[in-house]
Amino acid sequence: MIRSTPKSTRLVLLGLVLAPLVYAQGPPPETGPFRKPELVELLKLDSTLKLDIRYATKNNFLGRRVYKEARAFLQRPAAEALVRVNQNLRKQGYGLVIFDGYRPWSVTKIFWDATPEDRKIFVADPSKGSRHNRGCAVDLSMFELKTGKLAQMPSEYDEFTERAHINYDCATAESKRLREMLRRAMEVEGFAVYEPEWWHYDYRDWKEYPILNVKFSAIAP
Ligand SMILES: [Zn+2]
Repeated sequence: MIRSTPKSTRLVLLGLVLAPLVYAQGPPPETGPFRKPELVELLKLDSTLKLDIRYATKNNFLGRRVYKEARAFLQRPAAEALVRVNQNLRKQGYGLVIFDGYRPWSVTKIFWDATPEDRKIFVADPSKGSRHNRGCAVDLSMFELKTGKLAQMPSEYDEFTERAHINYDCATAESKRLREMLRRAMEVEGFAVYEPEWWHYDYRDWKEYPILNVKFSAIAP
């Protein structure tokens, strides 16, 4: 059959077969200029931050582990700003708990493929990459310093419902107060909330960093 197909047609067919494979293997091409990435381990900058890296456990929306290591990173300016947020909140009796920071592109691809169409607003399109991939987005909440308990927010982390929206109003007064406390503290240091998810913040420099696909294990401890 192949022998009777013209060469040009064979090349087109080959392209159609290979294109998804190439795409599946790596991030989309981008044109810079970009700043040189410098992913910093958050706990190295501030050991009072609490980590709850859900994607390193089965306690996440996929129900399986996607990270081999429970570590969190951001680009240095974002990481330093986050430390200031944490120190400011501690004066008000709360600390930051980090669910996720830098996320390799391959993990964004896993999330996208596993999410049904009507929920894709909650996950980034791998053909565009995510701000997590650039090391400039963080998923987080707060815990009470006195008790160590997670702050009661209007929804759970990664709860893909209307309760996750930053303006969701039918929540308890206390959970709305805590959500606002977090938002104010983050905005002062240059982070902007992603409105459908009260826990997701982007750092103002995100456009200046490329999409990365570096595994945690390849980042120096
Ligand atoms: Zn996020």
